[in-house]
Amino acid sequence: MKTIYLDNNATTRIAPEVLEEMMPYLKDYYGNPSSMHTFGGQLHKKIEEAREKVAALLKAKPEEIIFTSCGTESDNTAIMSAVESYPEKKHIITTRVEHPAVMNFCKHLSRKGYRVTFLPVDKSSGQLRIDDLLKALDENTAVVSIMYANNEIGTIYPIQEIGETLKERNILFHTDAVQAVGKIPIDTNKLPVDMLSLSGHKLHAPKGIGALYVRKGTRFYPYLIGGHQEHGRRAGTENTASIIALGKACELAAKNIDDEVIYLSRLRDKLESSLLKLCPDTRINGDINNRLPNTTNISFEYVEGEAILLRLNEYGICASSGSACTSGSLEPSHVLRAIGVPFTAIHGSVRFSLSRYNTEEEIDKVIEVMPNIIKDLRMLSPFGRDKLPQECR
Ligand SMILES: *Cc1c(COP(=O)(O)O)cnc(C)c1O
Repeated sequence: MKTIYLDNNATTRIAPEVLEEMMPYLKDYYGNPSSMHTFGGQLHKKIEEAREKVAALLKAKPEEIIFTSCGTESDNTAIMSAVESYPEKKHIITTRVEHPAVMNFCKHLSRKGYRVTFLPVDKSSGQLRIDDLLKALDENTAVVSIMYANNEIGTIYPIQEIGETLKERNILFHTDAVQAVGKIPIDTNKLPVDMLSLSGHKLHAPKGIGALYVRKGTRFYPYLIGGHQEHGRRAGTENTASIIALGKACELAAKNIDDEVIYLSRLRDKLESSLLKLCPDTRINGDINNRLPNTTNISFEYVEGEAILLRLNEYGICASSGSACTSGSLEPSHVLRAIGVPFTAIHGSVRFSLSRYNTEEEIDKVIEVMPNIIKDLRMLSPFGRDKLPQECR
């Protein structure tokens, strides 16, 4: 059975071009880029070329890019750098819908004596209100960290507007752009952010490589301390092959991004509108006017997300769910709770996230099998058959 992979916000396939580019650096060119000899030293040049490609995707300068081991490290580094750089400031602002890489790091800091404000978001759309941010700011605020786009619901946040507000007040601004980079255009010349995180495996590079953009002139304090790699901003021998891979992945993304936005949103919209039409009592979670082109999060009332995923799995279809357990945690999604999705709908939520490698036939297959899966499961629903729509009773 062929896999239909619709879980690209969890991780992506390595692009064949990326794999080809990185392979020689796993096999033959294994030197240390810091070595004096040519065998190692030549890798230094390859790393700098990769840095230029990552920078180009963000319209940044190469020296503004620091390679890290993952999106999580980039997020932790950015926030830690901010609080280390402004030791007198003990307040951090973030949101209730961040990825655990930001959310749990901020919770950790709150146990270390920092005050953390978790901004609420609007019902259903998950949007932020700038007013809430303004009310939370004070002279003690060291950093504001707000994600560019949400991994679960795809909502895109008003990073431009937030950045302008913070720039006027001279407050550091970090954005976790792991889900946005490579999916939608980002121009750091125009976007007033000081730091921005990205991760390789969310844009067709391997797992275990990330980068942090740090605007020139921003105070920076390293998180990993040791050797002089990355100009002393991130110690540790470079993951050469993966850095080269990330460079290639960014180059591919930059080349194709406009076409992919159109391609992915067309497929996503087809999937979404068909499922909404064919399955009664469904709703979309997230901001349909401001959303990643590849993501849809749909709640199917009265059914368990896990059950849906298991049934989809029988057809080789991979998706993910916001309900308990599937994500390896006992709590249902903090994002869906933050946007006020009712209990029954959280448990029946399914996220489909597409990539350039999905085809229309694959989407048609999901549209074909899903209505029957939902109908079957609703017959068995523990949430009360009397609540079920007439045709499913
Ligand atoms: C995946 C993800 C991360 C973490 O990236 P890793 O490379 O897996 O550590 C952080 N933030 C968001 C929004 C993500 O989707």
